[in-house]
Amino acid sequence: MKRTRSIETACVQAGWTPKKGEPRVLPIYQSTTFKYDTSDQMGKLFDLEEEGYFYTRLQNPTNDMVAAKIAELEGGVAAMLTSSGQAANYYAIFNICEAGDHIVSSAPIYGGTFNLFGVTMKKQGIDVTFIDPDASEEEISKAFRPNTKALFAETVSNPSLVVLDIEKFARIAHSNGVPLIVDNTFATPINCRPFEWGADIVVHSTTKYMDGHAMAVGGCIVDSGNFDWDKYGDKFHGLTTPDESYHGIIYTKKFGKAAYITKATVQLMRDLGSIQSPQNAFLLNVGLETLHLRMQRHCENAQKVAEYLNSNDKVAWVNYSGLPDNKYHELAMKYMPNGTCGVISFGLKGGRDVSIRFMDNLKLAAIVTHVADARTSVLHPASHTHRQLSDEQLIEAGVQPDLIRLSVGIENVDDIIADIEQALNA
Ligand code: PLP
Repeated sequence: MKRTRSIETACVQAGWTPKKGEPRVLPIYQSTTFKYDTSDQMGKLFDLEEEGYFYTRLQNPTNDMVAAKIAELEGGVAAMLTSSGQAANYYAIFNICEAGDHIVSSAPIYGGTFNLFGVTMKKQGIDVTFIDPDASEEEISKAFRPNTKALFAETVSNPSLVVLDIEKFARIAHSNGVPLIVDNTFATPINCRPFEWGADIVVHSTTKYMDGHAMAVGGCIVDSGNFDWDKYGDKFHGLTTPDESYHGIIYTKKFGKAAYITKATVQLMRDLGSIQSPQNAFLLNVGLETLHLRMQRHCENAQKVAEYLNSNDKVAWVNYSGLPDNKYHELAMKYMPNGTCGVISFGLKGGRDVSIRFMDNLKLAAIVTHVADARTSVLHPASHTHRQLSDEQLIEAGVQPDLIRLSVGIENVDDIIADIEQALNA
């Protein structure tokens, strides 16, 4: 979609646009249900003949306003909020896959998504092949099968910080007749807009930078409206053939570019739930209003911290694409010239045990599972988020056993560095 105002203005003003006498601030529609005058009016909503709200499990005005803001930030045609990032990733795939299907996914991704694809979705009959995102197009294409329905990757992977070559992935997906679905949680649309590089669907854990204050778990799926589902109608028959649960409507025929999101809303949300609460959507919207300011500060601070760590002789290695000698520096400069995110990973000389002791000595930075909010935080993935993975899977997911994930916040950077220094010296 063509942008009509700058992204900073959209952060503040997109979504809820009050009319005369309406509240300036997005209202919370704290209501499960919505009133109609006649049975016929309500019936039309159930048949998708008319647009409107009837039950918050499917749609709620507060959620829709926030989804519309995120759709505008990403440059998509429509979006849907979910109760978590996990739900967003699950729905994004399940909306076009069923038992007997297969997906190809980049291996270095968030541990929860790795488990979702590799364990839980397998139990539902959806198979996955994990690939090395740095492999050649030919090599990655070998993973595709006739029943492959999507290619998945993270724009900046958690916690390995691999920067995705989005154009390469889009070419691979499209030459194999499937959409590219990317998780843009770490970069956010402030730093990277994957649709501009050929991605078809974007997912977010809004729990992270978008909310930005560690207040509300949430997720979002955004549709670019660009993938031609009808071109591969047999493959994506859920979108291109009649849905008997809605008296035979065909999503691509009735909803055009919004077919994918409409199906996710009226079919998956109806049947599986996982809505974001309007309260959480309200908090998310407050976070989004300052996303552009916070991302800038996160990136500035992370760059300085990465440079500090890189010059400290107690540090064994630092991974941050803002460092010129980083493997992903060039890709980061191409896709995210204003910075990638505030997350850095590094290891200390002495290995795993020293890394853990260092973390215990931090005072300003807290040990929390969470990442990507205003407060500096730290985590040892091998002991925490990625604990369920075997050593082999850890390496496949790009996680060294000694890897410390530092989520640099928006405090004064000198204070953050002083805290790291005292913990290194302790
Ligand atoms: N995607 C990424 C990149 C993540 O980092 C996370 C969580 O850390 C998720 C998805 C899952 O999101 P949530 O915790 O909101 O379910």
